[in-house]
Amino acid sequence: MDSIQFARTSGELSWSAQVSDFERLAQIALDDEADFQLRLEGFQDGDEKPCLRLQVKGAIRLSCQRCLEPLSLEVASEREFVLVEREHDMMDLAEEDEAIESLVAEAQLDVLALAEDEILLQMPIAPMHDPGICNPPDWTGRGRNDSSAFSVLGTLTDTKD
Ligand SMILES: [Zn+2]
Repeated sequence: MDSIQFARTSGELSWSAQVSDFERLAQIALDDEADFQLRLEGFQDGDEKPCLRLQVKGAIRLSCQRCLEPLSLEVASEREFVLVEREHDMMDLAEEDEAIESLVAEAQLDVLALAEDEILLQMPIAPMHDPGICNPPDWTGRGRNDSSAFSVLGTLTDTKD
């Protein structure tokens, strides 16, 4: 996708991607069927600079770093990028306005990689359940109710025939 042309012509693109479409996400996700809704819009800012707005929405299941149980993490972000011709322009812009990311304009913009970066940015370094929700593994075998491994095993044996 030619990013500058997309911006100049006010392009709009909405699509959904699965976790398995993202190389890095697929490695940390528990299941790769989760969907992400992606939306990319092209526009020009007040100075007629070509810009992109990327919206990412979805949820991903990861392992909680405390209890190792599945943890569902919602991702919702919107970010604007100003397209610049060269890395050099990127520096100038960064000093001007830190709220807007700049992106070197490419004839072949990898939108999926951009979206993946965005999703990874939204993730905590060590994803964990909220305090109190987490049930750290109970290695002592005490304090659990009847839904223990033993009763699950019992059910499995009962339904075997
Ligand atoms: Zn947890």
